[in-house]
Amino acid sequence: MPLEEAKIGIMTHAFHYGTAIFEGIRGNWNGEQQQTYIFRLKEHFERLEKGCRVLKINLPCSVDEMCKLTVELVAKCGFREDVYIRPVAYTSSESLGVRLHDLEHDFFMFVIPWGPYLDVDKARCCVSSWRRPEDNVIPPQIKANGLYINNALAKTEAQSSGYDEAIMLAPDGHISEGSGENIFLIIDGKLVTPAVNNNILTGITRNTVIELAEKELGIETVHRSIDRSELYMADECFFTGTAAHVTPIAEIDDRKIGNGEIGEITARLQDIYVRVIRGDYPKYLHWCTPVYDK
Ligand code: PMP
Repeated sequence: MPLEEAKIGIMTHAFHYGTAIFEGIRGNWNGEQQQTYIFRLKEHFERLEKGCRVLKINLPCSVDEMCKLTVELVAKCGFREDVYIRPVAYTSSESLGVRLHDLEHDFFMFVIPWGPYLDVDKARCCVSSWRRPEDNVIPPQIKANGLYINNALAKTEAQSSGYDEAIMLAPDGHISEGSGENIFLIIDGKLVTPAVNNNILTGITRNTVIELAEKELGIETVHRSIDRSELYMADECFFTGTAAHVTPIAEIDDRKIGNGEIGEITARLQDIYVRVIRGDYPKYLHWCTPVYDK
């Protein structure tokens, strides 16, 4: 239906309490092939489905059906540029009272044209005074709408202070992630990234980059707790995310990372990643769902 007809009521439970799970999926336009490739579609809906289990949200259809609907929707919208797809499963009851039980659920999805998210070649970052919540506060492994107040606080603090992006610490003081990205360091030729239990969202781009680094560059990834000072001492550093792709980090807390330019391994990964998501790397076409019939 047209966007202006897609409305929810002001009493909707999810609007009051953030009781919803969302995803962010990209469709990447390949001009030469006149094709949009949706990247790792199924993995996004699998993550959505897991989040719904935590919030006791019933989905109206299966992961495979949501994937089919997505392709249909993107094809119908007909954009011939990069798009961003936003599915949301939410508690739709027009009923007050904080809880997860005895509620009705609904699901919607829309598509918008969307270019770069972190609109910089290389990001200047600060460590945020806002920390990621721990799993027993709000599970950071699920994309729960209400949780994103935490990310918004961090992002606005960073941008108000003149930085591009925030890096948040976990409650125990170790590095967690950006406001909408996972983080990687390069130390002595290896990728180092916070582990799943460092209060991160387990990013699909994170997983992609780990696999590409290993298979294409023979570089292994170490998953472990990272101290704040290790950021400053890293050889290279970058963010990963569906919206942010692979974004090099040039500076953290007014300290240059390496020589402050895009690092060599980061650049190589960025180059491979960009080709993979646009369907220009045949070996990884299984990650790319074409939208338009040829
Ligand atoms: N962390 C947070 C907090 C995010 O919102 C995102 C974006 N979904 C990511 C990491 C990166 O995850 P993905 O690569 O799956 O987009």
